[in-house]
Amino acid sequence: QPVFQTRDLTKIYGSGETEVRALDGVTMALYESEMAVLLGPSGSGKSTFLNIIGGLDQATSGTVHYQDKELTVLSERQLTRYRRDHVGFVFQFYNLIPSLTAWENVALVTEVSRNPMTPGEALAMVDLDNRATHFPAQLSGGEQQRVAIARAIAKRPEVLLCDEPTGALDSKTGIIVLEALTRINEELGTSTAVITHNAGIQEIAHRVCFFKDGKIERVEINDQRVKPA
Ligand code: ADP
Ligand code: ADP
Repeated sequence: QPVFQTRDLTKIYGSGETEVRALDGVTMALYESEMAVLLGPSGSGKSTFLNIIGGLDQATSGTVHYQDKELTVLSERQLTRYRRDHVGFVFQFYNLIPSLTAWENVALVTEVSRNPMTPGEALAMVDLDNRATHFPAQLSGGEQQRVAIARAIAKRPEVLLCDEPTGALDSKTGIIVLEALTRINEELGTSTAVITHNAGIQEIAHRVCFFKDGKIERVEINDQRVKPA
């Protein structure tokens, strides 16, 4: 069951001399409860793709279905509600509030969500229940990113979109972060898409999508971790 289905998705930034075709006709499905990874050179359109399916950016043409909802016809307000109710985001930079503990950073989200976990549960999902009272400055980069992941999943989103969550981490720490994402995917069934250059990802993804020049060049299914369709 596709959770996202894009058809002929195109995104053009700028116009005339400065026109950039960031996405050039991407037709792709991401499946429920799968972990997909988006690979490809810098500038190949991965972030643009993630931002559009996450409702952070609007396509120039083409369609994006999230389940049976067509995102490209939604107003800004409807997109905001879509993001709030269905999508968790993780970025390269953690954006934790320095004056709040790990627990309090997560609690900011759980206080305003309809069916949240407790902050303690969310931190336990990323193996950080023992760091609840620490402030961001007292945590390593990998730990801070795991707090950011706990914050992203605390509202129990159906979808988790991660744009270079390992980009600021060394490769070993990056693996630990990717393992946390894998565990969430397995235990909560959260449909997940991850952009990363960490070499460890190929083994833990169900589906690997290779971007090039705004197109998807090919998709590989990982037999080691294949999910029934
Ligand atoms: P990737 O994530 O694969 O590195 P991006 O989706 O970030 O690729 O970028 C694809 C292309 O779109 C690049 O040429 C990039 O410079 C351009 N681009 C991305 N965002 C913008 C923007 N806000 N304004 C203008 N050009 C952009
Ligand atoms: P759970 O009850 O599922 O373990 P909670 O997030 O509800 O998870 O609480 C974990 C513990 O942290 C509770 O005992 C709670 O009272 C405590 N706690 C409350 N506020 C804070 C805070 N600001 N920083 C750290 N721990 C807190």
